[in-house]
Amino acid sequence: MILKAKEDFQNGKVQIVLGWKKEQDSIESIPAFIESADELEELIFDEYCVNNLSKYLIDEINGGKKAGVFLKKCDALGLEQMIKDNRILLESVVPYEVECLGMKDFKTGDIFKKCEKCLDKSQDRFEEVRDIEGMTHDERYDYWMSEFSKCIRCNACRNICPACSCETCVFEKKDEDVLGKANNESETGFYQIIRAYHVAGRCSDCGECERICPVGIPLGKINKKIIKDIEELYGKGEEDTLSSFNLEDEDTFTEKRGGK
Ligand code: SF4
Ligand code: SF4
Repeated sequence: MILKAKEDFQNGKVQIVLGWKKEQDSIESIPAFIESADELEELIFDEYCVNNLSKYLIDEINGGKKAGVFLKKCDALGLEQMIKDNRILLESVVPYEVECLGMKDFKTGDIFKKCEKCLDKSQDRFEEVRDIEGMTHDERYDYWMSEFSKCIRCNACRNICPACSCETCVFEKKDEDVLGKANNESETGFYQIIRAYHVAGRCSDCGECERICPVGIPLGKINKKIIKDIEELYGKGEEDTLSSFNLEDEDTFTEKRGGK
């Protein structure tokens, strides 16, 4: 892959390559922005290259460059979504897919839960959803409000998410009435509900939001519940389920039925 990237630099196919390198004096692997073929030898790939680099492409490509990017399988799904969302032009990116055997937390050496699931296809993909599904509405409300009350509104879940790439996030628009960040049920609950519904039908289930959350809110459970509901109600499709429609849709999941 490094050879391919070198060739792409030499042929002018890319002006920048995004990969991973080692943090100085640490086993941590961090994003690297390589601007010439000579610098490519800095790049590494190991079990600590957890960052999805595709989100950085927005800035690089909007700066007018063509970029090569090293991607794991889950990262590639995020890139695909950003291309569908017209945040990244397909013709401006050269992807180099790397084989991933699971990523580890550099602080503990433990493999991430999301990676274990991805590698072990025999695991129930929706396991963590089943306990919420067994709750009454009031129990679910209490469960989520207790989790959301831990939120410190750091925005890390939003910033890392490949499906969350609006030019200006609604939570930063001064003329919208949603800027409040008080630590109360109303404002944290509102933030979380908007975040979850904003990515509904577009979430690639990369698990990055949950991994990065500093207070351990199980955000993956919400995403997975929505993914499961969408798959059960609409089936698995190529289209972005919640942003496409068909007038011939029989709409069998509503009480009224029909709905054309
Ligand atoms: S799992 Fe989280 S970070 Fe990944 S696409 Fe879904 S909402 Fe975004
Ligand atoms: S990463 Fe966690 S604490 Fe930070 S805004 Fe998201 S949910 Fe809240």
